[in-house]
Amino acid sequence: MNFIVLGPQASGKGAQAELLAKKLGFAHLEMGEVLREIAKQKTSLGEKINQIIYQQGTLVPDSVIKKVANSWLDKVKTSKGIVFDGYPRKLSQYQDLEKILTERGTKINKVIHLKVIEMTSIKRISSRRVCPKCDKEYNLVTRPPKKDKLCDFCQVKLVLRQDDKPKIVKKRLETYHRLTEPLINYVRQQGILIEIDGERPIEVIHQEIMKRLNQ
Ligand code: AMP
Repeated sequence: MNFIVLGPQASGKGAQAELLAKKLGFAHLEMGEVLREIAKQKTSLGEKINQIIYQQGTLVPDSVIKKVANSWLDKVKTSKGIVFDGYPRKLSQYQDLEKILTERGTKINKVIHLKVIEMTSIKRISSRRVCPKCDKEYNLVTRPPKKDKLCDFCQVKLVLRQDDKPKIVKKRLETYHRLTEPLINYVRQQGILIEIDGERPIEVIHQEIMKRLNQ
């Protein structure tokens, strides 16, 4: 079984995908995180991705995403299933993924759409923090660290994600409406879309997702 978790910025897709993958023993492809790792590299691809994520707030080209997805699938054990998190984000990526999975003898079973209003995204982003050392994400309100603004694992002071600055956030939300919403409409027509109210606490949402997936 393979599931996709989609939603606007700070809809909680990362937290839900992580919980779901853990509970089911599935592999978890967090595309944003994989791309941030590549963006740290001093290569021309790393620099290009860095520019897109942190200066432009737009999407990395499909050709790069396809390669990243294929090389992740080659490396990671996915026999139980996969939770795709933040990928695909547009119709062309979805169609690419369908092809990639067909070649590997599998398919997309369900797409979970976490719905939150724009005000919620903006509010949550302002309280989102990340560990500069291990990249673990926190939210000072909904998913706080154990000790005041320190990473639970590294004990390092948490910081605002570079692309969570207001100007870039505006661009990222605009990209979501323009490119990801048409994908959601497409998946709805295919009859594999599960719509979830993302305005509730993490554990309540997780329980509903498990129920709706019959897990
Ligand atoms: P996220 O952590 O999911 O908010 O992603 C951070 C950034 O990585 C996005 O704003 C995009 O620039 C890039 N990114 C993540 N996932 C994708 C994707 N599926 N396609 C293209 N770019 C992506």
